[in-house]
Amino acid sequence: MSEKIRIQDDLYQSVNGEWLEKAVIPEDRPTTGGFAELDEGVEKLLMEDFAKLASGEKEIPDILGFEDAIKLYRQAKDEKRRNEEGIKPVLPLLEEIKNIKTVEELNEKSYELLLKRAELPIQCAVQPDMQDALKNSFIIVGPDIILPDTTYYAEGNPAGPALLNIYSQMVKAVLSFTPLSEEEKEQFAADTLAFDALVAKQVKSQVEWADYVATYNPMDLDEVEKYLAPFSLKNLLKQIYGDKAPKTIIVYDPKAIKNFSSYFSKETFPLFIHWCYVKTLLSASGSLSVDLASLGRIYRRALTGVEKDPTIEKQAYQIASGLYSDPIGVYYGRTYFGEEAKKDVVEMVKKIIETYKTRVRKNTFLSEETKEKAILKLSTIKIKMGYPDEVKDFYKQLTLDESKSFYDSRLKVYQCTLIDNLNRLHKPVDRSEWGMPGHMVNASYNPNSNDITFPAAILQKPFYSLNQSLSENLGGIGAVIGHEISHAFDNNGAKFDENGNLANWWKESDFKAFEKLTKDMIEQFDGIEYHGGKVNGELVVSENIADNGGMAVTLEIMSTLKDPDYKSYFINWAKVWCQKAKEQIIQLLLASDVHSPAELRANMQPRNFKEWYEAFGVTKDDRMYIPEEKRIIIW
Ligand SMILES: [Zn+2]
Repeated sequence: MSEKIRIQDDLYQSVNGEWLEKAVIPEDRPTTGGFAELDEGVEKLLMEDFAKLASGEKEIPDILGFEDAIKLYRQAKDEKRRNEEGIKPVLPLLEEIKNIKTVEELNEKSYELLLKRAELPIQCAVQPDMQDALKNSFIIVGPDIILPDTTYYAEGNPAGPALLNIYSQMVKAVLSFTPLSEEEKEQFAADTLAFDALVAKQVKSQVEWADYVATYNPMDLDEVEKYLAPFSLKNLLKQIYGDKAPKTIIVYDPKAIKNFSSYFSKETFPLFIHWCYVKTLLSASGSLSVDLASLGRIYRRALTGVEKDPTIEKQAYQIASGLYSDPIGVYYGRTYFGEEAKKDVVEMVKKIIETYKTRVRKNTFLSEETKEKAILKLSTIKIKMGYPDEVKDFYKQLTLDESKSFYDSRLKVYQCTLIDNLNRLHKPVDRSEWGMPGHMVNASYNPNSNDITFPAAILQKPFYSLNQSLSENLGGIGAVIGHEISHAFDNNGAKFDENGNLANWWKESDFKAFEKLTKDMIEQFDGIEYHGGKVNGELVVSENIADNGGMAVTLEIMSTLKDPDYKSYFINWAKVWCQKAKEQIIQLLLASDVHSPAELRANMQPRNFKEWYEAFGVTKDDRMYIPEEKRIIIW
């Protein structure tokens, strides 16, 4: 702990300051510390295993899909072969795109193009239906935009043009590998930005996307078809489903679909084709020569402040462990995660859920009716701890052939994943699936299935250790568990019932009281200055409600302990959020992430709780003091 900074003035800097001063962010990463440091550790460990497994020094474990993950890893790090093939594997597809002269031609082969990973003017997927969460629905959204948020396109935002300039340089660099004429290269690059600018006027901002429930807009296929004309969704669906096409489509961003003709029409079609050519090449670049892969990341590096590409071995590991996350997660769990820890943390989750119920019963702004419903929702939360028992059957249909190119193998994984997703439309939702693999340092709550997932990789120090005190574990993993459970009752989660269906289980006056507290939380964070920018309270409100709930419930447990150590609780809370980050990623996250900056997560919530003031004798003369009437506790 730093001696210079008083904990009462700045919990985060006092706990992490000295570490932050000395810490060096790895050249190939945007951040280090906390979550990122654990992730680095997992990566190092698994990379060592991958090297031995790929060379035959270690036997490949009997886990479905694992052998193919190693095949893909070997192909990814075969620089010589990748460089020999260069851009060649994707050229036939690029030629095909370039030769599409009319929208009718595009409509005729839209599914074929989608299967080859070409960009269409809409994006689609099959996902659980929000209102009937055991059934699947077909969803569509407009195209992705280049800049991190629509606000970057606004006049007077200097970051926007600067980033578009870098993007444009990247596009020209990758296009230089194509057989296009010099004139065409210029034209394709310019048209890509022109098409993007049209799209950006119609798509949702990050703040709008943060309203999860607002994505649920069921529309008649006939109506959607009218908006999209001359593009035909019906044609695409016919190619996928024959006569079993869905009649209702869930439109995630209605504005982008209703105003589709403002960016996609017969007139803008040449812009679209050039945009499609460039986007398709960029998404393929990571599977081509090492040079092309690196050039294709220019923009991403600029956005995040990453200086250097990872080594080829690391890239290969990242690709293989990302695309084969299920088998790798199971391997990580089975190899490195102890049953004792699993049992211990499951007990902690149960304890936290029970304590949550106690708090709901004591709650002062809810009626008895709403309390009963909230308790029912808590009682039915399902826990996914560590890693799944088995890898899903999906990998049985996916076998890679190492004699094919790396590009072909990756495309095959993509195609199988896409087909598997689309085929779910007429099947019930499989709730045994995990949202996160065992080797991921993260945790999640799914409002559509009312379940929480804690991958094995987050169950390490400082979050959790059998050797840490209970107070420390409560300030670490305990608060994270409480955070995830609180997502069931944040501004989005509160609108789903115990079965994961979008349904109003609230008494109206109760929901109004909750909304008032939500507004208070928006205000508490809104406009806080951070690295020259400002926090957008509305963007980060759901995560702050979750942090607030996580702290409330774990402090309640602390109060029942024989010898609670509140100092250790808050110190470990601050350690968990320790993060050193490149300036670029700080700005990117500030504009687009639904989480507040880590430093603010560490320093803001404690001020809402009397235990913080008591633990360190914080008074109104200290910087981490707020008056009682400004303190917020929601759950
Ligand atoms: Zn969260």
